[in-house]
Amino acid sequence: TWYQPQFDAQTSRLTGVEALVRWRHPHHGILAPDRFLKIAEDLNVASTLDHIVLETVLKDKVRWAQMGLHVPKVSVNVSSRRLHDEGLLEALNRLDIRPGEISFELVESIFLDEHEDAVANNLEQIKALGIDIEIDDFGTGHTSIASLLKLRPKRLKIDRQLVMPILHSPQERALVRSIIDIARSLGVETIAEGVETMQHAAMLRELGCDLLQGYAFARPLACDDFSRMALANWAREAA
Ligand code: C2E
Ligand code: CA
Ligand code: CA
Repeated sequence: TWYQPQFDAQTSRLTGVEALVRWRHPHHGILAPDRFLKIAEDLNVASTLDHIVLETVLKDKVRWAQMGLHVPKVSVNVSSRRLHDEGLLEALNRLDIRPGEISFELVESIFLDEHEDAVANNLEQIKALGIDIEIDDFGTGHTSIASLLKLRPKRLKIDRQLVMPILHSPQERALVRSIIDIARSLGVETIAEGVETMQHAAMLRELGCDLLQGYAFARPLACDDFSRMALANWAREAA
């Protein structure tokens, strides 16, 4: 599991990380998820993979705490399969998760079948465990304001396809501004992904975006590299 840091747009403080799965292949080196997630789905192990990532995150959090590194929140990606998993709540209950320290990133398409009671029920119970819900890749799918109101996510993650053109395209800039304004009026936070330059960061700050993540700050890093960078630059805890 690799980590990419997220920062407060106003204060530049480290607010959290996104956990991104990597596969250390014996012959092909470190593989990014696009090389194996589809296969994991097909083999029906996507849910298991997500669970292993979460367990790894909780272990890494303990190590960070021992090093004096304070990472307020870790976001993990959750596949549709896992959200439908009947054993999900039981599995989560067995883990030692403190309220507010973990956030689940769910893509919009998962909410399209919002009639499904199992999913709605799982979501409510996840929230009751103190795990935040974030809508990933927001702006590319079809989430309606109505379903936003119903779901009440903690945060919208604005897709990098919308974020990247904002410096040059007035349309995308206006769209991102609207998303931020709507979210704010609903009491929902916003995070921009794919923030590749400091100009993007400055623009997003101006538009009122709460949190920023992207190559402008850091690429996803192996746990040790992340810990080293974070201690040196981002998050030394006052002794
Ligand atoms: P995502 O959730 O949209 O994750 C962000 C992806 O954008 C990551 O790719 C990250 O490396 C990349 N990225 C970060 N900053 C920038 C930037 O400034 N510019 C650009 N162009 N890209 C940036 P990665 O790690 O290859 O992950 C790809 C996708 O795989 C993720 O997209 C997510 O949907 C999925 N994924 C990753 N880890 C997990 C996991 O543990 N479980 C599940 N179910 N899915 C995962
Ligand atoms: Ca994500
Ligand atoms: Ca995303």
